[in-house]
Amino acid sequence: MLREGGPSGSRRTRERAWEDASRRGDRSQTRQDAGLRAFRPGEPPGPAPAGCGLLVDNHVHTRHSGHSPEGADAVSIRWAGLGRGLRVSLREHAPLPEGFELRQLGGQASPDFPPVSTAVGLSLGDRSLGTFFHEAREAGLSVGFEVDILGGRLDLTEELVSLLYREARASGVTIDALNCSHHILGETPWDFTPQTLAAAIGFCGGPAAFARRYFAEIREAVATGMFHCVSHIEAPRKFDAGARSLPAPAFTGAEEVWREELLRTLETMAVHGVAVEYNTGGLATWGRPYLSPTTLRAALDLGLRIVLGSDAHHPDHVGRGFVDAERELRAAGLTEVWSFLAGRPVPIPLA
Ligand SMILES: [Zn+2]
Ligand SMILES: [Zn+2]
Repeated sequence: MLREGGPSGSRRTRERAWEDASRRGDRSQTRQDAGLRAFRPGEPPGPAPAGCGLLVDNHVHTRHSGHSPEGADAVSIRWAGLGRGLRVSLREHAPLPEGFELRQLGGQASPDFPPVSTAVGLSLGDRSLGTFFHEAREAGLSVGFEVDILGGRLDLTEELVSLLYREARASGVTIDALNCSHHILGETPWDFTPQTLAAAIGFCGGPAAFARRYFAEIREAVATGMFHCVSHIEAPRKFDAGARSLPAPAFTGAEEVWREELLRTLETMAVHGVAVEYNTGGLATWGRPYLSPTTLRAALDLGLRIVLGSDAHHPDHVGRGFVDAERELRAAGLTEVWSFLAGRPVPIPLA
């Protein structure tokens, strides 16, 4: 049940009309019928609409992420999106496959090497996946997952993905999109801290070797056809700047390899029709969104679909940075961004 004051019937009707129009591929109605700009009296005011032109935040987590602060319940997230003129499409962290254990290269848990348990979101071993589907369905949120690349164990990923579809169907939920995300090298989450990244780079034999492995694993995942989008492809650069950066940026001396591998991966994504995410979550660590301007340019030149996501883990962060993002994307000549319904790409014209 939605709590008192939940989304009105008429809003639900407008959203369904948008979904129907999108499914029919009717671009003329896509923006009009979203109906998200016209707020009714008495509905939560929220801040001034931000990112209205983008319409959908395609990367939001809930309390099930394993590392979300208090208050990231599905209904609050939906309201936060509506208050900013945005539909929310979740990309919750998929569970790890049965028997796949994370471990920390850095040994003893410390602030530099946080316990791996904080990386684990939904679980197959309890009822959290069913609870997640139930909560998302009741709140009227679009459902998708961030699926980890598990050290190249694509067999495990394939099993997990079919299980997700089965469980979703059993819960009466449609999975709108699967993003592939690289957070784990072998069995070790590399993206916690500058120190965990440095340890993973050392384990690979240096930054060039890390870049080759990172991008090769993304290309393999993309080529399976399981994924609709690649999340935060530049995430290994997240500690290049900021208070927690290493003495020298992690990819010092490996910039050429990084660039070649990145471009090759974008080309593979173009071949397989996989979208690339413009993820404003990079603002929190890198100080700018993933994609950087040069990578955005390369993606556009290859004709890749651009999908916007905030990577919010709390309602306050839904749509974070979307005003600037929209400005930058328009300045780059983009005329549409993309969302997904039941795995089908849906354009959102920016004009
Ligand atoms: Zn991620
Ligand atoms: Zn995420």
